[in-house]
Amino acid sequence: MNELRQLADHKRIVVKIGSALLVEKGELRRPWLEAIVEDIAALVAKGSEVLVVSSGSIALGRGVLGLPKGALKLEESQASAAVGQIALAQAYAECLGRKGLKAGQILLTLGDTEERRRYLNARATIGTLLRMGAVPIINENDTVATSEIRYGDNDRLAARVATMMSADCLVLLSDIDGLYTAPPATNPDAVFLPEVPRITAEIEAMAGSAGSELSRGGMKTKIDAAKIATAAGTVMAIASGKVMNPLKAIDNGTRCTWFLAASTPATARKAWINGHLEPRGEIRLDAGAVSALKSGKSLLPAGVVAVAGNFSRGDAVKVLSPEGRVLGRGLIAYDAAEARMIAGRNSREIEAIVGYPGRAEMIHRDDLALDDAPFERAG
Ligand code: GLU
Repeated sequence: MNELRQLADHKRIVVKIGSALLVEKGELRRPWLEAIVEDIAALVAKGSEVLVVSSGSIALGRGVLGLPKGALKLEESQASAAVGQIALAQAYAECLGRKGLKAGQILLTLGDTEERRRYLNARATIGTLLRMGAVPIINENDTVATSEIRYGDNDRLAARVATMMSADCLVLLSDIDGLYTAPPATNPDAVFLPEVPRITAEIEAMAGSAGSELSRGGMKTKIDAAKIATAAGTVMAIASGKVMNPLKAIDNGTRCTWFLAASTPATARKAWINGHLEPRGEIRLDAGAVSALKSGKSLLPAGVVAVAGNFSRGDAVKVLSPEGRVLGRGLIAYDAAEARMIAGRNSREIEAIVGYPGRAEMIHRDDLALDDAPFERAG
């Protein structure tokens, strides 16, 4: 049962908002947007960080441009997205502003979440926005994405954003209130599933067997999103956005489907860095840096005594103690040549050495996966 699950119990929540909720006949549903912004503000006031993945740019843009009904050509969708995204972002900024919150627009393409170098940049920027108290409003960069390089649906984009940001909760709001064993519109025996502990082949088959072409795609991408999210330790809900204040409604016990995660984002991320990435180099630390890491800090260039290997920014490297013992792994923020130049130097000198204002950390603490109790094993 999920009556005890409250959204505010989560530290970082990604909310995906579907086009049909926000836009009707080419026009923004402003009262609905104002109401969900109230919900977001309430969660922020309770101490959660909220990120929004919002669709609607194409639906809104085609309305603004006065395009006729019917399927759009790729370039027409892209032009609509270009026009609609401005209106969409402005509406969020205004509504959030009225609640004393700031909005920051992030437009992502597939590569930004799939390639580690770009992924680190997107993650750092979104993380900075959150630290500054702004609400990131995220969409796919539809104006430049072509079919080969685009997600095409914001369900999976939202799941990637959730895992990239180590969010502990993802909520997909659309016109369906959750997962059923069969399409509820056509099958009176369809049973609603309030909780999915694990995504089995049977669960995947339920998504594939939905009614119309449209709803099949709709549930399939949601189950794909659930697989991405739960594997990374993020719990996910599918909930109806057809009501006003849909996030408040979840907390009030309205029915929705929760997909449970076996681990937490932190342990899943550590497993990913430790298990799936081939280390491309080695970074040896001085004793001071080892104690800094031990107390949960990031690795600064000043604490690095040697750099080995040929790696690129975003690659995994091994982190070694002064004696050469492996302490763990991390994703490095500099290419090997740059790492050699800034090793042992103060972070303030980085810009003068590498020629651009790079990050203060060689490996950010969120990108470090230290072996279990590597320090206790010493001696
Ligand atoms: N990115 C598209 C838009 O903003 C929507 C994609 C989707 O609805 O999944 O219009």
